[in-house]
Amino acid sequence: MAVAAFWFSGALTKFENVLWDNFLSLQTNFPDHSSAKIASKDKTADKSNILIVEIDSKSISEIENWPWSRSIYSQILNKLSAGNANSIFIDVDFSSSSNSPTEDKNLLQTIQKVSKNIPVRLPVFLQNTSSNNKTLLLRQPIFKSNNDIEYVSVNIQPSKNGLVRKVSNGFTWEEKQYHSAWNAIANSNISSTIINYSISTDSFNYLSVIDLLNQTITPNQFKGMDILIGSTAIELGDIMPVPVVRAVPGVVLHALAVETLYQGGLYLLSAPATIFLLIAIALACHLLFTKNHWAKGILFGGILFISLLPLHYLFYHNLNLILPILPIALIFIALYFSNLALQLDENLFQKFVLQMALNHRNKLLDSIFSASNECILCVDDKGLIFSANPRSKDIFLCDSNELIGKSINLHLPINDIDNLDIHKKPYDTQLKNINGEEIPVEICISPIDLSSEKSFTLAIRSLKERKEKEAQLKFALEHDKTTGLINRGKLFSVFKERSHTFKNCFLARVDIEYFNDVISNYGHEIADNVLQIIIKRIKKTIPDNSDISRIGKNEIAILIYEKNESEIFDLINILSSDLNRSIAVDEKSIEIFCHLGISSLNSTTDIHIETLIRRSNIALNTAKQKGLEYDWNENTEEESKLDRLSILGAIRKTLRRSEFELAFQPKYELHSQKFTSCEVLLRTPPNWDKSINIATLIETAEKSSLIAPLTLWVISKVLSLETEWEKHQLPKKVAINLSVGLIGNDYFLNELITRINNSQKYFDLVFEITETYFSNDWQHTLRNLQKLRKNGIGISVDDYGTGYSSLSYLKDLQASELKIDRNFISSIDTDKEKQLIVLSTIKMAHELGMTVVAEGIETQAENDFLLMAECNLGQGYLYAKPMPFSQLQTFSVPTSCSSLKALPL
Ligand code: C2E
Ligand code: CA
Repeated sequence: MAVAAFWFSGALTKFENVLWDNFLSLQTNFPDHSSAKIASKDKTADKSNILIVEIDSKSISEIENWPWSRSIYSQILNKLSAGNANSIFIDVDFSSSSNSPTEDKNLLQTIQKVSKNIPVRLPVFLQNTSSNNKTLLLRQPIFKSNNDIEYVSVNIQPSKNGLVRKVSNGFTWEEKQYHSAWNAIANSNISSTIINYSISTDSFNYLSVIDLLNQTITPNQFKGMDILIGSTAIELGDIMPVPVVRAVPGVVLHALAVETLYQGGLYLLSAPATIFLLIAIALACHLLFTKNHWAKGILFGGILFISLLPLHYLFYHNLNLILPILPIALIFIALYFSNLALQLDENLFQKFVLQMALNHRNKLLDSIFSASNECILCVDDKGLIFSANPRSKDIFLCDSNELIGKSINLHLPINDIDNLDIHKKPYDTQLKNINGEEIPVEICISPIDLSSEKSFTLAIRSLKERKEKEAQLKFALEHDKTTGLINRGKLFSVFKERSHTFKNCFLARVDIEYFNDVISNYGHEIADNVLQIIIKRIKKTIPDNSDISRIGKNEIAILIYEKNESEIFDLINILSSDLNRSIAVDEKSIEIFCHLGISSLNSTTDIHIETLIRRSNIALNTAKQKGLEYDWNENTEEESKLDRLSILGAIRKTLRRSEFELAFQPKYELHSQKFTSCEVLLRTPPNWDKSINIATLIETAEKSSLIAPLTLWVISKVLSLETEWEKHQLPKKVAINLSVGLIGNDYFLNELITRINNSQKYFDLVFEITETYFSNDWQHTLRNLQKLRKNGIGISVDDYGTGYSSLSYLKDLQASELKIDRNFISSIDTDKEKQLIVLSTIKMAHELGMTVVAEGIETQAENDFLLMAECNLGQGYLYAKPMPFSQLQTFSVPTSCSSLKALPL
């Protein structure tokens, strides 16, 4: 409605006129009438019945004395009357008398004569009296009107922009009606019409006055024609501004109006019809736009709108009506956009808010991606890197942009990109940087679920620094700092590793006598130099493939492989004489006394280094007692087997009789001195051979199937104490040693879990597992440890430092406790190297969320250092020695460890 009102107000007229004029331009080609061209050039154009007799430049110049005498007009009329025209309209102003009243009179007579056969029309018009006086004045020919001569109006009202678009139906003056010229000529009563400028001015017939006068007119030459006489010469100034063809002479404009009327006129659609049409279009658009998606709406609306064009054409050609195209277009656009706005209103707002949120989230993710301390790569399903954050430079040593588009396989050993997402957990691997250098990394691969295509993020953390630290720690854990020799723990593992490759082996144990005196007399520095020289002498003598270890302050163990007895005999002779030579340090000559104890084995089967050491110890003691430089423990393979068999027999017998005993050693919280838990230790009955220590017994049992019943016995025994334990309110946490080989034994494990589950579950059990052996069947071990954890059993890594597991191994174990081996605890208060190792071990264990226990605390100084080092728990003779259950029940917590004496077992 608003559009209709807008249209009716005339606000759109200007735009409509432009549209309309352009439409008319398309209808036909118009000649330029700015100059008075008369003769039609277009022979093919349909000629109308209108003849324009032109008062043109040619006629003016050939007929003298302008303005012409009235006799010229009489001649013109006479000539025309001969041709039997339909009507004659003389568009010449005769409102004033000429110089010759005779000629005026003659003209009147001629007009009257002609009008007897042909209607002759003369122009009248209203005009202002003067520029100052706006009173209207009727101008009409001087001849007195009679019935034969019709006076017709030639007043034309231009539109607002000065162009003549419409003609109206004359006027009434002093009660007399004056028809307009075009109405009169076309014999029409239509009140007004729009001039149809698509009518070609070429369609009229033109005849110059001079040509007319010079011609001989034949009868009926102008039959049926309406003749309009008027000026077309520019110099006469009767030129009208019009649309489409820009300007036409007045007489031509009259001709156009007449021809328009002949063709039925041209009209705007009536107001009610226009309103009806606009409402119909509005409803159609509304239906189209509300029921359809905006894109469809625009398509259907477009079709509707385009289909209006032929309709418009039909209206124009067949009904002489002009359709209001512009308001229709406006309705279409207004409805489309208002509907779109309504539709979008809610959706768009929601989307807008969502988009803003997404933008915010993207920015956040981008900043996390860029600011992350980890290297993050995004990889597509073909393994091509499509994004890399700035930190990737640290690992790959190239700008992150250089990685884009490259295959990840160039840097990481990932062959099967489809299986990339199998690694949900971080894992350690090697990565090649841009220089081909291998770097240890921890990597976590996760699939990106957002896109339809498979892609992944790789979060990579360099382990270079950590691995270097681990390597340093590993070296420190395995070596003696003063001499650089491997320590006792490492010697054991070296022996284990090599035991499969050699057939025979000798252990020579060197004891440096009076070494403490060297330290006290000459100081640590010189004592260290002495030690270095002794080692040099040993290394010079023994074969290169031997292993040397410092196993005590003044003790060195040498493992010599693949030599026969006589070779060893010669070698030992050289070595002992070499070692017993005085040493010159700082111009001081220091006397050195060394004893050697040698033990041997011919086959590696079932022999333990502990046994070899034990036997070399016997030999050493013998050498010392007898004052010999060395002694040899002649142990044969048979003896060793016998040893083992007798130990196994004794175990079986003791088990059958259930004669083993248990000892319990309390663990305490270092900062509070509180007794928090205890470790269960196996003890042999009093009738056992004292030379067989628990370590040897356990090691022998581990090599046979007896370790399983032995351990089950220990567990059952502990569980049988539950009620008593509870009664005495002893700490619930109890640690039991578990040989690592048993973790892989599914039968044992099930039995163990069943027994625990059948108990009253008073205990909070922890299994201590020595980490030395963790390399065996790792995955199975991990699975079974998981089973134990699920049953509420804790895991403690025992004797940490004697073997060595990398931190990532410890991480995988998910152990709750780490026990530092007592070798690292003894003299920790003074030994800087041990301090370093223990401090970094505690730090790392804490980072992995483990509780740290220090084993074998014997002195208050050791205790104090460990307290300062933030070690959590302590265990050792300072607090309590292992004790039988009867003593544990009455064990009273010491107020201070310094006041404690080691408790007797
Ligand atoms: P472990 O697990 O390292 O046990 C601690 C050992 O250190 C015990 O020796 C204990 O008596 C000793 N100890 C505790 N505090 C101190 C101290 O302050 N100074 C010194 N010098 N020693 C201290 P034990 O009882 O001879 O046991 C030796 C090893 O035998 C144990 O070492 C453990 O690995 C194994 N073992 C003992 N009982 C069992 C058991 O029931 N099952 C298994 N599989 N192994 C056991
Ligand atoms: Ca233990």
